[in-house]
Amino acid sequence: MDKNFKLETLCIQAGWNPKKGEPRVLPIYQSTTFKYETSEQMARLFDLEDSGYFYSRLQNPTTDAVAAKICALEGGVAAMLTSSGQAASFFAFLNICSAGDHIVSANTIYGGSFNLLGVTLNKLGIETTFINQDASEDEIKAAFRPNTKALFGETISNPGLNILDIEKFARIAHAEGVPLIVDNTFATPINCRPFEFGADIIIHSTSKYMDGHATCVGGVIVDSGNFDWDAQAAKFPGLTAPDESYHGITYTQKFGKGAYITKATTQLMRDLGSTQSPQNAFLLNIGLETLHLRVPRHCENALKVAAYLENNEKVAWVNYAGLPGNKYHDLANKYMPKGTCGVVTFGLKGSRDVATRFMDNLELAAIVTHVADARTSVLHPASHTHRQLTDQQLLDAGIAPDLIRFSVGIENVEDIIADIEQALNK
Ligand SMILES: *Cc1c(COP(=O)(O)O)cnc(C)c1O
Repeated sequence: MDKNFKLETLCIQAGWNPKKGEPRVLPIYQSTTFKYETSEQMARLFDLEDSGYFYSRLQNPTTDAVAAKICALEGGVAAMLTSSGQAASFFAFLNICSAGDHIVSANTIYGGSFNLLGVTLNKLGIETTFINQDASEDEIKAAFRPNTKALFGETISNPGLNILDIEKFARIAHAEGVPLIVDNTFATPINCRPFEFGADIIIHSTSKYMDGHATCVGGVIVDSGNFDWDAQAAKFPGLTAPDESYHGITYTQKFGKGAYITKATTQLMRDLGSTQSPQNAFLLNIGLETLHLRVPRHCENALKVAAYLENNEKVAWVNYAGLPGNKYHDLANKYMPKGTCGVVTFGLKGSRDVATRFMDNLELAAIVTHVADARTSVLHPASHTHRQLTDQQLLDAGIAPDLIRFSVGIENVEDIIADIEQALNK
C-alpha cells in the first residue's frame, strides 16, 4: 500500500489488496489451518525459512490484513492483532522483559494496565516503578535502573485524560537505551501518531474507537522499526541472541525491522495464544473504515459537552484538554491539534452519592463499563473500573473519587446535552 496515502484513504484502503477475481471486501478466513502440498513446504514454515499461514493461533490472513491497516495508520513497519488490549500490553512488555527486569511507567495509566504492571508482571519477577509523567526529565530518569527495559505511558490517559509529553518521554527512554512504549487507544492515529514524536512501539485497545461500535474486544501492537536493539544487545538478548526454540535464529539478524513483531508472534502467540479471531478482525476492519469520520465528531461533541458542563453551576470541575483553561491544553495542541478524544471527566458539587444519582437519572447516556464508542456512556471509576485501588492510588492515578467519566458519543450533541441537563435538574 502506498505509504503516502492520507489517513482517510488508509482507513478505507490499507491492508487488503485483492488481486484478479478476489473478493473486493476483506474475507473472513474462518479456518484454523492452511493446506500445503508437500511436507517440505510445511517444514520450512516451522523453521521460519518461508513465511506463510499454517495455524491461526500464529497468523491468519484476515487478522493480518487488519493489522497491516493499523500499521499503515500509525506509520509503523509491522503489527499484530491480539485478543484484547490487555493482551497487547502484556505481550508488548513480555516480548522484551523477563524475570529480574524492570519497567518505568506513568502512574496515571488505565486501571487494567496498572494492575498488569503492578501486580501480575510483578508476580512474574518484572518490577515496575510508577512515576508522575509531568515530573522533570531528571526526576523521571532517577527511576531507571541498569535492568530497566522499557518506558511506558498513554498518549491520553484513561480516565485521568492527562496528555503525555511524548517527545520528553522519548528523549528519556533513548538516553537510557530503552524503547518508549505508548498506549494510543484514546487519541487513535487520526488525532496523534506517536511514532512521529519518537515513540518506538504503540499498543491499542481496539475495543474502543477503532472498533467504535462496542462489538469486539481486541488489541494491537505496532512496531515503528526505529529502535536499534543491536545497539543495546546486552539489554535485549531475546532479540539479539540466538533463539534455541527456533534452531538458533537471531531475530534482529534474520528479520531486521520486523524482529520485534516476529518474535512476539513466533514465541508469545505460539506459547500463550491470545490471538484475535478472524470474525472479530473483520468487524474491527469495518469500524476502522469510518474511524476518520467518527473521531472528529466525537471530539466536536465532547468539546460542546465540556463547555456546557463548565458553565453549569451544579458542576464542581471539568477536565477536557480541548478546553482553553485546561492544564494540558498546550500539550494537546502540540501533539493532537485536531482534537483529543470524546471522553470528558467532571465532578458534581455535593457528596459522592450526587454522582451516583446523576448517573441513575441519565436516559440517553448508558451506565456501561465500556468507553469510546458511538453511544454516549457514563461510568464512575471509583465505584466501577478502579474499585480495587485505594483512595491514595486513585489520587495518584489522577482520579478524584467524585470523577465521572463521560464518553461522548456521535449522537446529536443537543440530545446529549439535554440528557445531562434533565439529569442534573432532577
Ligand atoms: C480499555 C483499555 C485497555 C484495555 O483494553 P481491553 O481491550 O479492554 O483489554 C488498555 N488501555 C487503555 C487506554 C484502555 O482504554
